[in-house]
Amino acid sequence: MRRKIVAGNWKMNKTPSETVKLINELKPLVANDDVDVVFCVPAISIIPAMEAAKGSNINIGAENMYFEESGAFTGEIAPNMLTDVGVKYVIIGHSERREYFAETDEFVNKKVIKAFEHNITPIVCCGETLVQREQGVTIDFVRQQIKIAFLNVTAEQAKTAVIAYEPIWAIGTGKVATTEQAEEVCKAIRECIEEVYDTDTANAIRIQYGGSVSADSAAELFSQNNIDGGLVGGASLKPDFGKIVNYK
Ligand code: PEP
Repeated sequence: MRRKIVAGNWKMNKTPSETVKLINELKPLVANDDVDVVFCVPAISIIPAMEAAKGSNINIGAENMYFEESGAFTGEIAPNMLTDVGVKYVIIGHSERREYFAETDEFVNKKVIKAFEHNITPIVCCGETLVQREQGVTIDFVRQQIKIAFLNVTAEQAKTAVIAYEPIWAIGTGKVATTEQAEEVCKAIRECIEEVYDTDTANAIRIQYGGSVSADSAAELFSQNNIDGGLVGGASLKPDFGKIVNYK
């Protein structure tokens, strides 16, 4: 039985002091020992967020990471900078990074490999555009994203990974995928992992749905066979996140 994982993606929101305030507000609301709860916050807020979350069930994650160890990469964050302060999760290949910062599948793959080298669990994002969905190429497209993201990743590593299926047309739009649409693609992702690796790996890897998840939609989405939780943007900054974590 896979353990559910609900992660918040704070994107470029909240200053470090606002972060501390919000974590203190959300802490009692997201208490649930049956679910892994992760708050992925802007890099500058990771340390204060860690302090604020101490003693709670909240894990603090990063929203991005570079794939080199150190050096002349102005503005980037190295993996050992994250592990040095105790970060265990990092979002890789979010569609906003792909769209606004030109991250390619190859970049995503390098980052996934680097995250595993440092024992950081990658939350690997994939998902189609509205045009791709309308053209009927969603599953082919997502399979390709996943196959490239996991190139040269071992089965043992892949078993511990998290994949977030996030249809781009559902992110930040209030337009959540139907439960059937979300389950169909998450199932296809699991089948793709089974083809690339084996049944054990496919059964172990956790697959989230992301895209306008709300307190109203979480229970039905998270109860699907192939959906092991969610990656949540807007609603993770509100008390509603507590209802999403405690979706049952
Ligand atoms: C996200 O940013 O990963 C996301 C799913 O955002 P939202 O929940 O706001 O659609």
